Amino acid sequence: MSHLKERYDVVVVGAGNAALSAAIAAQQGGADVLVLEKAPEAARGGNSYFTGGAVRFPYEGIEDLIPLIGDISDAERAQIDVGSYPRSAFYDDLMRVTGGMSDPELAETLVNNAHDTAVWLREQGVHWGLMYSRQSFKIDGIFKFWGGLACETVGAGKGLVDSLFDRTIELGIDVAYGTMGDHLLTDQTGAIRGIALRGPDGLAEIATSSVVLACGGFEANAEMRTRYLGPGWDLAKVRGTRYNTGDGIRMALEIGARSHGHYSGCHAVAWDAGAPSEGGDRNIADLFQKHSYPLGLIVNVNGDRFVDEGADFRNYTYAKYGKEILNQPNRLAFQVFDTQVTEMLRDEYHIRETTKFEANTIRELAVGLDIDPDGLEKTVADYNAAVQDTPYNPAILDGKGTHGIEPPKSNWALRLDQPPYTGYAVTCGITFTFGGLKIDTTGRVIDTQDHPIPGLYAAGELVGGIFYENYPGGSGITNGFVFGKIAGTGAAAYATA
Ligand SMILES: Cc1cc2nc3c(=O)[nH]c(=O)nc-3n(C[C@H](O)[C@H](O)[C@H](O)COP(=O)(O)OP(=O)(O)OC[C@H]3O[C@@H](n4cnc5c(N)ncnc54)[C@H](O)[C@@H]3O)c2cc1C
Repeated sequence: MSHLKERYDVVVVGAGNAALSAAIAAQQGGADVLVLEKAPEAARGGNSYFTGGAVRFPYEGIEDLIPLIGDISDAERAQIDVGSYPRSAFYDDLMRVTGGMSDPELAETLVNNAHDTAVWLREQGVHWGLMYSRQSFKIDGIFKFWGGLACETVGAGKGLVDSLFDRTIELGIDVAYGTMGDHLLTDQTGAIRGIALRGPDGLAEIATSSVVLACGGFEANAEMRTRYLGPGWDLAKVRGTRYNTGDGIRMALEIGARSHGHYSGCHAVAWDAGAPSEGGDRNIADLFQKHSYPLGLIVNVNGDRFVDEGADFRNYTYAKYGKEILNQPNRLAFQVFDTQVTEMLRDEYHIRETTKFEANTIRELAVGLDIDPDGLEKTVADYNAAVQDTPYNPAILDGKGTHGIEPPKSNWALRLDQPPYTGYAVTCGITFTFGGLKIDTTGRVIDTQDHPIPGLYAAGELVGGIFYENYPGGSGITNGFVFGKIAGTGAAAYATA
């Protein structure tokens, strides 16, 4: 730690999207900033690195996207329909999928600052583009975007994180890799006076009056997963970084912070059954996910369906269906498609590293995937008989559902009868945890007596109270940069006052 100063105005713990947004904002607020990254440099960037870079923010129409993506040609304009996604729609989606539990003040802060902060990120060097491949369907020659998500960061999570690191370094912010925040130091008034680190040279203390905790949830900590999420979660596969082990939550609770939010809830998805268990693969990144299930059926090893694959747009169901898969025998499920939809399967279905089988009959498919053949044949026959003959349109909630089966398939129910059939074996992959620290709308961490802890700020995954039960796809990055910028700005103002 010899290269570090003894004192910084602001120490940011973590080096993902939330942390780097905080660090940049704090430096721009006039503070001398240190970033602590627990991971070695080659594994930097947290879960943010692993993302597809899909980002949810409100917009009224294409004109609101131009400041991000740059001007587009008239020909491209004529080919796209991005629709609109007003602030009220984002707020309503957040409230709808969380059962009305999202903290209204934090939710409003998230929604109201999302677009402007995305533009601020553009000014910091983050590049944006339209998310054609994952969020649009070509209908009558027009790319129709759906689900409130039209933009992605260019280069996905790697592009986002690399741009933020470039900016961090350009601004002269010190970054200590392989160095973790270990515990917080307070003075006799309870205010932050420093942080203890654990790094390549052992333990050290840095003096500071302001710390921003942005070091992720506890998704990569099997013990905490089991303790908070429940039995079986120790066996979920970790989709992203292996370094988010709940340290920031622990550190803050140790000095009296209030725990907040859905500690027994998390974001978890269908994830390739053969993917590594203890953390993501930085080359594959998010491509082990399997998100095209609304186009087909999901069954367990008995051949039984257990969720409504078409309950809503994928963005509003995928994050809660991982848990449903965890609850199936052997924590396994199979997504089954026929040739009618093969062309529409997302990019992640086309990588070599998938656990899949193709067959000309449902029975052969079942045998190839170790599903009970009688069970699968019966499920598909019952499902096909229940499909209603109304028009099909994957870009809207088309209401083309089933009648008389449980669970129903509420939208996009095409009969599964066009061989060859393809089945993909998936298990539960955990993305991030929902429970964490209580903050106010200025990013200050609140204690168990409902007072802010002087000098302590937090942002990103380790903040509780925003996501409960479920999550609108693309909100994790938004949550990180909105509250990261707010926390960094607040921390700098506090430290330099
Ligand atoms: C495979 C995958 C795909 C995803 N796709 C999307 C998507 O397309 N859109 C979207 O919005 N969200 C997506 N998410 C969710 C998103 O990644 C997170 O919600 C968001 O990036 C979290 O940002 P963060 O900055 O809070 O945490 P992270 O990016 O995880 O950063 C945490 C940082 O803290 C560091 N750290 C941990 N402990 C310590 C410590 N004690 N001291 C110092 N540093 C520490 C870590 O090394 C890391 O650098 C995806 C997640 C995964 C795993």
